[in-house]
Amino acid sequence: MGADGIRSVVRTLIDPTAPRPRYVGFLNTAGYARGLNLGIEPGVNHLVFGKRCFFGYVGHPNGDVWWFANPPRREEPDPAELAAVPADVWRAQLRELFRDDDVPALAAIDNTEQITTGWVTYDMPSVPAWHRGRTVLVGDAAHAVSPSAGQGASLAIEDAVVLGRALRDQSDPAAAFGTFEAARRPRVEQIVTQGRRNGSGKTAGPIGRVLRDATMPLAMKAMFRGDRDPFRWIWDHRTDWDETATT
Ligand SMILES: Cc1cc2nc3c(=O)[nH]c(=O)nc-3n(C[C@H](O)[C@H](O)[C@H](O)COP(=O)(O)OP(=O)(O)OC[C@H]3O[C@@H](n4cnc5c(N)ncnc54)[C@H](O)[C@@H]3O)c2cc1C
Repeated sequence: MGADGIRSVVRTLIDPTAPRPRYVGFLNTAGYARGLNLGIEPGVNHLVFGKRCFFGYVGHPNGDVWWFANPPRREEPDPAELAAVPADVWRAQLRELFRDDDVPALAAIDNTEQITTGWVTYDMPSVPAWHRGRTVLVGDAAHAVSPSAGQGASLAIEDAVVLGRALRDQSDPAAAFGTFEAARRPRVEQIVTQGRRNGSGKTAGPIGRVLRDATMPLAMKAMFRGDRDPFRWIWDHRTDWDETATT
């Protein structure tokens, strides 16, 4: 079973021509800001499209703030080059990205002792072969989704349940893997697409940014009016363990 993540070796054993991870157009960096006391409700996730960079933060009950940022980069950078950027240079670059934003990003950066080095972010294009013989892929190895979906770990856990059910009910592994793939592929590929869509606003250029900021508040209000939630199909997914898995 290839549960070996986005750089899966098992994927290339199943199919040497399998696609490679696909760059999503931005980096990740994060930190823990100590003693900031923003007066925000602990545990509530704040996600903000800044002028030049996306910023996410959540308050800890002790007043600390856990944060991340997604600096956009048009071309896929070399991870080794990113890792070699000195900490003070990286901190200055992040400060510059948030200099015009009315969000607590600068305070978070200034109160963080160690900011993670930037790392490159990927998802997976559709992987044609999920299984061969007695070998099967699950989780990111089969369908890594952009972090902008916030769904990759959930999907990997769902996979485990659906695959377990198929192997419980079908004695032939190839048949069980076929049942597993048929049950999972449409959902996960739809979420990979949604993840890319969510992330596209993070890499908007100057004109796209103006359009995004003008339309997003109205669009969000319309989409979530009353008890409407266009993403319910993602959150409300249920797998019934007692159901029999059939081909
Ligand atoms: C920045 C970021 C934010 C994210 N945020 C969220 C979120 O909010 N919600 C969410 O649900 N998901 C999120 N995800 C996605 C989530 O982390 C992944 O989808 C999830 O970890 C995938 O689980 P996995 O078990 O398939 O792969 P992994 O967690 O990558 O585990 C694979 C394991 O296999 C091991 N391995 C690899 N090769 C070999 C080998 N040859 N031999 C032995 N072991 C090997 C690796 O060391 C690793 O431990 C995020 C991802 C990123 C990068």
